[in-house]
Amino acid sequence: MTRPVLASWIAAQRSRLLAQQGHAWLLQGPSGLGQFQLALELVRAWLCEAPIEQGACGVCGSCHAIDVRTHADLCVLMPEVQMLARGWPLPEKAQADLDDKKRKPSREIRVDAMRQAVEFTQRTSARGRGKAVLVYPAEQMNVVTANALLKTLEEPPGEVRFVLASEAAHQLLPTIRSRCLGHTMAWPAQADMLHWLTAQGLPVDVAEVFLRISGGRPDDALALFQSGCNPQSWAQLPQAMLRGDASALTDWTPPQAIEALQKLCHDLLALCVGAVPRYFALADLPDVPAIGPLTRWSRALSTAARTAEHPFNPGLMLEALAAQARNALHSRQ
Ligand SMILES: [Zn+2]
Repeated sequence: MTRPVLASWIAAQRSRLLAQQGHAWLLQGPSGLGQFQLALELVRAWLCEAPIEQGACGVCGSCHAIDVRTHADLCVLMPEVQMLARGWPLPEKAQADLDDKKRKPSREIRVDAMRQAVEFTQRTSARGRGKAVLVYPAEQMNVVTANALLKTLEEPPGEVRFVLASEAAHQLLPTIRSRCLGHTMAWPAQADMLHWLTAQGLPVDVAEVFLRISGGRPDDALALFQSGCNPQSWAQLPQAMLRGDASALTDWTPPQAIEALQKLCHDLLALCVGAVPRYFALADLPDVPAIGPLTRWSRALSTAARTAEHPFNPGLMLEALAAQARNALHSRQ
């Protein structure tokens, strides 16, 4: 399994955090800045058999076990959809349930998985370098799950270290936050992000566009590129919505389409109040409609976002979204 090029800003933050003694870290800040990678870099360094100043050695048995996702002393707690998307193995029972179609992959961190994690912390370390628990995104724990973790955080049995990562740290139990050392993710410099994105294969002009579309978040920019989105269709989206043309949305899932429309709505609202657009080039935006309809559209999109994961009929939903966009863009009062 090849590891992607580690971004310079993640490496710099890793060195800073490793220089401090902490048995529990909470990485916080906006998504798309590499929280998961930084969390994984920390646990690799903690568990490495021959750590160097900058972190894990990358070649020992422990580093290899993490790279192939079979390290006995590492417990990764994520919602099942995230585990699957990132290629981490699920516990046997959970995988069997999904294979038998007994349920869908969970979108939150399951209580069962947390119970297994607590048992994991009580076992002796298999490789003798301590153990580590990685929780991401930590706000996907419900109250029961969070309380189970809290007990372990308060009285960690033996040599176990924790790293939690969250883009909504304010949603965590205050008692969990207070048990962790907090680290706010650093916002990388534009030049560093462009350098990293071009190293991943993006032409520099495409990297610039995708960074703008993703609000300056490099992970999101890379994900956009990998999803097959192309800069031309992004530039044409405002005009397509002015025509109510739903075919401009069909490459996306409903949640992605809603996010794109929220960005369009954001930029038009910004123009209404004299601010600069963030996601679209000024030249690609239509004449600014009135602020009232835009505000109502923004609220309608937020409501739609809450039900977009399981739409009754995705095609109809995209049609409805395009019609709603057209109405908002043509409304002058
Ligand atoms: Zn190593």
